[in-house]
Amino acid sequence: MRLVSLASSSAGNAYCVESGGDVLLIDCGICCRDIRVRMESAGLDPARIVGVLFTHNHVDHVKGASAFHRRFPDVPLFANFMTAEAIAAVMKMDEADFIPFENGQSFEVGAFEVAAFSIPHDVPDPVGYTVRAEGLCYFHATDVGTPLDSIGVHLAEADFATLESNHDPVMLRTSGRPELLKRRIRGPRGHLSNDDAASLVRRFASPKLKVLRLAHLSGECNAPHIAEGVMRETLSAMGRTDVELAVLPSDEVM
Ligand SMILES: [Zn+2]
Ligand SMILES: [Zn+2]
Repeated sequence: MRLVSLASSSAGNAYCVESGGDVLLIDCGICCRDIRVRMESAGLDPARIVGVLFTHNHVDHVKGASAFHRRFPDVPLFANFMTAEAIAAVMKMDEADFIPFENGQSFEVGAFEVAAFSIPHDVPDPVGYTVRAEGLCYFHATDVGTPLDSIGVHLAEADFATLESNHDPVMLRTSGRPELLKRRIRGPRGHLSNDDAASLVRRFASPKLKVLRLAHLSGECNAPHIAEGVMRETLSAMGRTDVELAVLPSDEVM
């Protein structure tokens, strides 16, 4: 199993999971051309995309969905019922363009076994995913308002994980952002702070966790070295300096 991030920020999100040549795309929040070009630059073949998984309907996760569907009409788009309805409305697509699923119900897509779990965020029925292939489990959760145990139990199964580490609380508080937006971001259906992400890892990461990627960092209210520092300290206090830690860049392939 190989992980490639194409974009990871509040401006755009798209992530690939590859196994045996099959590629699963998680979210479609950059333009279709960038998805193709960035995949190719990472040695991934866009013709091998076996499906797209959508987490929720915010524009930074769905911006390229409509163009992608026109360019790759045979690639199935997966979303739960409420997310499919919401994306169709936002992107002027047809709900019938999506294959709906129930949260918690696992389904096969190419080489992958996928299951979605509920996360708190300010849209209808947002989800994170576990993706299994080659006997390994990948955990994916961005745009998470609260580090709930019900999310942690899925992290506990993971060999590889991508977890939101959105903001530094002090940088958020002292930023020039409108008070309403600050309240939304730190609210129970907003985004995970660096400390929230660390708390999930501290409480739930299992000995099999090998790779941890910090995602969806705020450009204004976080810095890669701060997010990485908080998580490194947490891993080191857990005696887990063996975990390969990476901070995903906002707008380039990694
Ligand atoms: Zn987002
Ligand atoms: Zn969101």
